[in-house]
Amino acid sequence: MKLHIEDTLTKELPADPILENTRRQVEKACFSFVTPKQTAKPELLHVSSEMLKNIGLTIEESQSEAFLKVFTGNAVLPNTKPYAMCYGGHQFGNWAGQLGDGRAINLAEVEHNNKHWALQLKGAGETPYSRTADGLAVLRSSIREYLCSEAMHHLGVPTTRALSLALSGDQVLRDVLYNGNPEYEKGAIVCRVSPSFLRFGNYEIFAARQDFKTLKLLVDYTINHFFSDLGEPSKETYLVFFKEVAQRTLDMIIHWQRVGFVHGVMNTDNMSILGLTIDYGPYGWLEGFDFGWTPNTTDRQHKRYRYGNQPNIGLWNLYKLANALYPLIEDEETLKGVLDAYKSDFDMKSLAMMRSKLGLEVEGVSDALLVQDLEANLLLTETDMTIFFRKLSDFDNKKPSEGLEIVENAFYVPTEISEDIQQKWASWFQKYSERLAQEKINSIERKEKMNSVNPKYVLRNYMAQLAIDDADKGDYKLIDGLFQMLKKPYDEQPEQEKWFAKRPDWARHKVGCSMLSCSS
Ligand code: AMP
Ligand code: MG
Repeated sequence: MKLHIEDTLTKELPADPILENTRRQVEKACFSFVTPKQTAKPELLHVSSEMLKNIGLTIEESQSEAFLKVFTGNAVLPNTKPYAMCYGGHQFGNWAGQLGDGRAINLAEVEHNNKHWALQLKGAGETPYSRTADGLAVLRSSIREYLCSEAMHHLGVPTTRALSLALSGDQVLRDVLYNGNPEYEKGAIVCRVSPSFLRFGNYEIFAARQDFKTLKLLVDYTINHFFSDLGEPSKETYLVFFKEVAQRTLDMIIHWQRVGFVHGVMNTDNMSILGLTIDYGPYGWLEGFDFGWTPNTTDRQHKRYRYGNQPNIGLWNLYKLANALYPLIEDEETLKGVLDAYKSDFDMKSLAMMRSKLGLEVEGVSDALLVQDLEANLLLTETDMTIFFRKLSDFDNKKPSEGLEIVENAFYVPTEISEDIQQKWASWFQKYSERLAQEKINSIERKEKMNSVNPKYVLRNYMAQLAIDDADKGDYKLIDGLFQMLKKPYDEQPEQEKWFAKRPDWARHKVGCSMLSCSS
């Protein structure tokens, strides 16, 4: 197995001098060297052929013993030194101090086709940052991360990627419902891939410790490697860097809103500095359109990370990053300007995104109102977001009275559609049809455009759960089935039509389908 190793982080940033794998506060260092744990009986369940290619490996190589061993942590690649990164973070609004890669171990960085990738195992054992936990991951959460990160990529959402999914062969104890009934589950390891896994929290930890020297080293490293087009590191560049991170964060969240993805744990340690979706834990997909929905049971009370609040939380997290970078920038006014711009940019980009979902190309003066009315209608009764927008592309603006019938399939309880609700929809379709009349493109082109932003297939919560239930019984076919289907989320795939359906009733309150805990 030949990989072109090109480590930069461990070469250029300060390492923790202590090599013992004991849990502790790690000062003045960006990472600690650590060796992944040997596992009982590693077994490869799935490999992403696209990611294999991206890092320069063949399918044959992925079937080798060497691949299995390296990507389950049972062997270390020649001339590499695996490590865990030190970071802190704000969790649910509060500073949590040092967190770090508690169950992620970075293997190496590789270069292929002029692209740079970091390889990271999730669930490969304890690190100095494991705090009170075991450094392991269970099969259920690993399947969810593996499937979703690749699915998000194919939806066009910036994200970290996944290379492989494997069983460790070890058993892992987890209390899924936090009700004092822990059970053993199959342990698993995902290899994640990203240009970098740096998070807001990597910068925050040094600012919190007033270690501005290491902070500067880390920011300079980040700019040199991942934002090199911004120029040489300097006070001005730091500011442009922050601006760029703010923009990427916003763009990522707009994509989440477009496809109905709810991250679930938008703590600052789960915010990538590259603006990529990272750390797929108790995430979920909107089924019924609902700004107030969160998949995360830990957040059930305050719903801080609910769908409709994601853009605000993105901004909140950027405030924390601005505070962390302040010692290097020392220009409060301009930093504040960037944060203020986020708000106006959000309004503009969000409207542009909604226009695209509605197939509107020209900018109409009352589009914001049209969108507002639509959102109000979607909330009147439980309405499947994915089905609604996908079906909407069949709407014929010369026949506004047929609108409701076209999207009918999106309603969970058709009997709930009272006369009043029918009236509201009729009125909206009337306005929408008048608005479409101002457009220049024909309905065939419009349908095509709408279908390229409104996915037909997303990883509905219950779909991942079905793959998990099968996998628990040793049947891994559905993992591949969903994986392949989600490579083309915008295509009509007649043989997959059964997945273009509302969540079945049994999944409404089932754990893993409608709610998820952080216990992964
Ligand atoms: P999360 O909210 O899942 O992103 O995790 C927050 C912090 O907890 C991170 O520092 C993780 O590395 C750590 N963590 C989560 N689960 C485990 C685990 N099973 N073992 C060790 N650390 C963990
Ligand atoms: Mg995390």
